[in-house]
Amino acid sequence: MGSEPDEFLTTDETAVVLKVSTKTVLRLVRSGQLPACKVGRAYRIRRSDLVHGAERTQSDVVYLDDNASNPIDPAVRMAMVESLTLPQANASSSHLNGQAARARIEQAREQVAGLVDAHRADVVFTAGATEANNLILRGLARYIRGQRVLISATEHTSVSRVAEALAGSGEIILDIVPVTSRGNLDLDALDNMLSNDVALVSVGAANSETGVLAPFSAAAELAHAAGAVFHCDATQLVGRLPFSMRVSGIDAVSLSGHKMCGPQGVGALVIGKALQRQLTPVIVGGGHEDGLRSGSYNVAGIVGLGVAATLAATPNVAERMLTLRERLTNGLASSGGIVNGAEAERLPNTANVRFPGVPGDVVLARTPVVAASLGSACHAGAIEPSATLLAMGLDRTEADESIRFSITRFTTNAEIDRAVAAITATVRDVRQLTEEVA
Ligand code: PMP
Repeated sequence: MGSEPDEFLTTDETAVVLKVSTKTVLRLVRSGQLPACKVGRAYRIRRSDLVHGAERTQSDVVYLDDNASNPIDPAVRMAMVESLTLPQANASSSHLNGQAARARIEQAREQVAGLVDAHRADVVFTAGATEANNLILRGLARYIRGQRVLISATEHTSVSRVAEALAGSGEIILDIVPVTSRGNLDLDALDNMLSNDVALVSVGAANSETGVLAPFSAAAELAHAAGAVFHCDATQLVGRLPFSMRVSGIDAVSLSGHKMCGPQGVGALVIGKALQRQLTPVIVGGGHEDGLRSGSYNVAGIVGLGVAATLAATPNVAERMLTLRERLTNGLASSGGIVNGAEAERLPNTANVRFPGVPGDVVLARTPVVAASLGSACHAGAIEPSATLLAMGLDRTEADESIRFSITRFTTNAEIDRAVAAITATVRDVRQLTEEVA
């Protein structure tokens, strides 16, 4: 207790950690003085203390970063733990243990198919939506070689960068469909760009940064009228709003476990058998998933994805999130917060808020009690303005002043109030500081 030195960061953090309390380490991490990776080294030394302390510290934080990763649902966690407690076996083995693992995978396949209203044989398990997006784009590239592919201007990087790479190597011709200033896909532009040389159209169902929903059913209809395949990255939508591939006329869908209160590192590409036969696999090996995705199964992860699929998209969850979001944006409006894409139809949990004159990174750095993001977390670390906000017509400064708040299935009124109070105080302080400097 009294032995806690004030000076922590000397030459060898690992050695010093031995002499200070966990509380001090965590305080330094939270204040940004010690990078989290350094705690990894300390962790080996005082594992029990740090695990304990880390949980306590994180529970102080209001987590409003659902679009980056959701809290895991307790029912999912339980099913995964149960799966991990059963004898581990390779689901491709013919013995009883292998067949038991296989049965759990097939049950999950049924559950995932049920979530998006598809046939169980259409589900190809992957290690998340990034891989699913790679599989559809790279997988189809050989079949559609030299033809045009259209994607929207606000696609996730696991679509846009793959498409750009394929265009760069001459495998496809890529055209970008613009969005309106509200962030909506420009359907007229899509219509004008479509012709019978377009082989694939890929449009995300909901934007991860603004939550703006795409008119994917209408886009699918236009794509089909031109003879193109329609892929939808529905990662941010499934689990939050009802979704039917069949009703929307979508040929292929990408989804991810950790965007529906399931585990990270597992997802699926859902795609009909006829189109599956046109895909060249990206990961080759033992021929799992009908040859489309080799590699021993992540059984517990897939079990978790399946259970998450059964819990997803209950209507009252969306309503609850919407009420909480109103509470948040009304609170933030008093400190000048403006919602980007406010006029568009959006996911019920997402508010991308701009505080004019206040850089978003400064607000987040000075408010460690609120976990939110600048744009998409997948770009974290890279100092680039949000491509989505730029495509909506914001300039770089405006994009940098924007913060994405995304509410979870478990967020409470009290947490929203704490977040509003903390962000409001920071915005006021930063404005004051800016005025003093000016
Ligand atoms: N697509 C969208 C729209 C996403 O938001 C994300 C995750 N940020 C991904 C794809 C990638 O998903 P995963 O983390 O499962 O690779």
